[in-house]
Amino acid sequence: MTDDVLLTPGPTPVPPDVREVLGRPIIHHRTGQYRAIFKRTLEGLQQVIRTRHPVVCLTSSGTGAMEAAVVNLLSPGDEAIVVLGGKFAERWQHLCRAYGITVATVPVEYGQAADPRQVAGALTAHPNAKAVFGTLCETSTGVVHDIQGIAAVTRESQALLVIDAISGLGADACDTDAWGVDVLVTGSQKALMLPPGLGFLSLNDRAWARVDAVTTPRFYYDLRLYRKALAGDDTPFTPAVSLVLALEASLARILTTGVGPVVQRTAALAAATRAGMGALGLSLFAARPSNGVTAVTVPPGVDGKQLTNTMYDRARVMVAGGQGSMAGKIFRFAHMGAIGKEEVLAGFAALEEALGALGHPVTPGAGGKAVRAALGAVQPAEVQ
Ligand SMILES: *Cc1c(COP(=O)(O)O)cnc(C)c1O
Repeated sequence: MTDDVLLTPGPTPVPPDVREVLGRPIIHHRTGQYRAIFKRTLEGLQQVIRTRHPVVCLTSSGTGAMEAAVVNLLSPGDEAIVVLGGKFAERWQHLCRAYGITVATVPVEYGQAADPRQVAGALTAHPNAKAVFGTLCETSTGVVHDIQGIAAVTRESQALLVIDAISGLGADACDTDAWGVDVLVTGSQKALMLPPGLGFLSLNDRAWARVDAVTTPRFYYDLRLYRKALAGDDTPFTPAVSLVLALEASLARILTTGVGPVVQRTAALAAATRAGMGALGLSLFAARPSNGVTAVTVPPGVDGKQLTNTMYDRARVMVAGGQGSMAGKIFRFAHMGAIGKEEVLAGFAALEEALGALGHPVTPGAGGKAVRAALGAVQPAEVQ
């Protein structure tokens, strides 16, 4: 059986050297050996996040880290602003409502990026808002939001800026401290090239002060426990030991290349993918496309679900369909983390074949040719 080619925006492929670490014998976490590794990995994550503030590691999916942000930064009855635009932004809204927080939304059409002036307007209309929740890469639409611009307007208010960078970190530029993002949330299974299972948050001093003041009940996600344990390079509960060991290996890949060059390489793959889609006559869905994932409009007359199924059945290439109201209307082709030129080319071959099989013939090889041409200008070392 050949391996699946995962071109989904999470989970993404796990490189062989990282998989090798996952298969090693387990070690105990209350040991100097583990603590030293844990300390190094959190320092590595600080470099990727571009923060000097502590990073908390949770054993959870990314949503767990989002929930930890909500319960530690807001009390019931507090007001918060959520910048919408896709399924993941809506998750902030659902989480806030679940905890009795009053939500004001900044409406953003699917496929569009939020205008920071809209956020400024919402902050003026809701001067008591304690937090603004946003998303770096809205994985459901392939849009990267202008977090630097949103941070600049949020800085004029008392609100904390909390950003879901679960799929954005390591693919799109993210200058957390310099931009003034107070809390950054991410997860293991996107551009960090690990299996699912770890969630991370970085919090600056303003955010930690809020953690001490809020009244929302919390236990597993009580970040005060994690901060206390962190002083001894430890966690309050059993960590996902094997994933943390593997994280050291995946961070080594990123930091050896450098965060900036990794983002550039991802941007080059994204540009090549967009060129390939254009060569096939397909339209792009995102007005402000992310580096990590390309959302493509399913051409008229083609069933989107059948398209993604055919790619998988014929070529074992897995791309993601649309979520919610976008089901069948778009498909999403990821090029973050360990996904490289070869995988992107395999994706185009599968896409061309599936389109042909579904009665929407395209010139065979046209997509791949455009991808190669776009990457031709890039030094081979920059694209794995
Ligand atoms: C994948 C993703 C999530 C959800 O993470 P889970 O690990 O599935 O809980 C949240 N936000 C964004 C932007 C994502 O891409």
